Amino acid sequence: MTSATIAIEKIKASGMRLTKQRRDLLAYLAAHTDSYVTVTAVDKHMRSRYPGLSHDTIYRNVKAFEQLGILEADVQGEQATVKLQCDFQHPHHHHFICQNCHRVQELTMCPLGYFENQLPGATIAGHKLELYGLCADCAKAQ
Ligand SMILES: [Zn+2]
Ligand SMILES: [Zn+2]
Ligand SMILES: [Zn+2]
Repeated sequence: MTSATIAIEKIKASGMRLTKQRRDLLAYLAAHTDSYVTVTAVDKHMRSRYPGLSHDTIYRNVKAFEQLGILEADVQGEQATVKLQCDFQHPHHHHFICQNCHRVQELTMCPLGYFENQLPGATIAGHKLELYGLCADCAKAQ
């Protein structure tokens, strides 16, 4: 099953109505499985298809998808960005992001255990970890 298919299943299972608009939104986001796209670009795309659509509705749908775990969200500079969930089986994972081609690669290992060992007795509520650099292809081309 592709990520887009799983996303549709998740929307249905949540009871959220899969309107044509939400389908289109998903189709656009499905083209961004291995790189982030700014929410501004999502908004622009949706408004080019549905000129009467309000920014509010678009942002609400993006937020709702994010809450369902369909989207991964990140902030790059001042920009809110999203991408389709790259691993529905392991929604908690980390990324390596290429600073040249912006491709996102999933990292399967989570290092939280190392930090837990350094903080005996503490309760860790969450963490974020992203690696940046040049992907193998970009590194080779340089
Ligand atoms: Zn991911
Ligand atoms: Zn690259
Ligand atoms: Zn982790």
